[in-house]
Amino acid sequence: MENILEIAKKKAVNGERLSLEEGLALYNDNDLLFLAECARKAKERKSGKEVYYNVNRHINLTNICTSGCPLCAFQCEKGDKRGFTLETEDIERILAEAKTVKNLGEIHIVSALHPDKPFEYYLNIVKQVKNALPNADIKAFTPVEIVHFAEMTGKSVKEVLSILKEAGLSSLPGGGAEILSDRVREIICPKKATATQWIHTMKTAHKLGIRTNCTMMYGHVETIEERLQHLITLREIQDETHGFQAFVAFPFHPANTQLSHLKRVGSWEDMKMMAMFRLMLDNIDHIKAFWIMLTMPVAQMALGFGADDLDGTIGEEKIIHAAGAKTNTGITKSRLQKIITEAGYIPVERDTFYHPIREGE
Ligand code: SF4
Repeated sequence: MENILEIAKKKAVNGERLSLEEGLALYNDNDLLFLAECARKAKERKSGKEVYYNVNRHINLTNICTSGCPLCAFQCEKGDKRGFTLETEDIERILAEAKTVKNLGEIHIVSALHPDKPFEYYLNIVKQVKNALPNADIKAFTPVEIVHFAEMTGKSVKEVLSILKEAGLSSLPGGGAEILSDRVREIICPKKATATQWIHTMKTAHKLGIRTNCTMMYGHVETIEERLQHLITLREIQDETHGFQAFVAFPFHPANTQLSHLKRVGSWEDMKMMAMFRLMLDNIDHIKAFWIMLTMPVAQMALGFGADDLDGTIGEEKIIHAAGAKTNTGITKSRLQKIITEAGYIPVERDTFYHPIREGE
């Protein structure tokens, strides 16, 4: 009779769906090169030799937040001298600069939960971006922000999403999932949207035809079972709605957070998790190696562990850098292409929805 590890290994080789217990057996076996090989084959079954990137620009509107999550280094309270909030003229300046970027395909907007800014502030920014860059996709607002807008306005999540979609929102970035466990959220983010609210917002967005990413933040107070259960929850949502385009994981950066006594996990753990993401999430097409969080050398290595997307050129980033990330805040397209080619893959510039973009389009 085969033991659970033997069964799990066979399934990983054949690309069959893994249960939580089988995932756990593979994780505990710690055979990194075996996991890498299976994950790479799983990636190549989905996207062949192609690795995606896009030309995007991140905008963080404010860091003033009512939530005070212990995991967060970005937020501050109103009145703090580190606080900032972008106004219409700041956005105008950013958009004027963005217009000069060739083939800019996506504006990515995520922010804190400002105590006073009304929903109209966010809505007007979506309209302002759409007006200035009609061909760029607007990927904006995590489910945590959407729930905040709903609570602020008394509207349902469905109404808030419908209004934003009408104004030009194309997709949601999928942040704020952290670990979808009430036990973990009570410790790392007790005041922000619950796991149930995050899941409800995603399913609602998908039903409205708004595609999204999904995420995980790992390496803080969660157990390995909770990580794997999180992946299974995402997989179950995807079975139901088919609305997730890509999965993005963030290793926790403890610096400047209330959990700064924790240590950042090492690259071995990052790579093992990368392979586990590809193997567990058999129904999600793309796995991102988010270079700004991992550092580019580790993100490049992740292409050998099942990742098929390096995110984009980014331009400016404040949230992860507040937690001590030492990466650059932007990268050129030619550098991204070289990094992908070096790893033996074919760089493909894409739009938000993974349609390839060819020069001149
Ligand atoms: S993680 Fe988000 S909601 Fe929590 S404090 Fe930071 S910005 Fe606010």
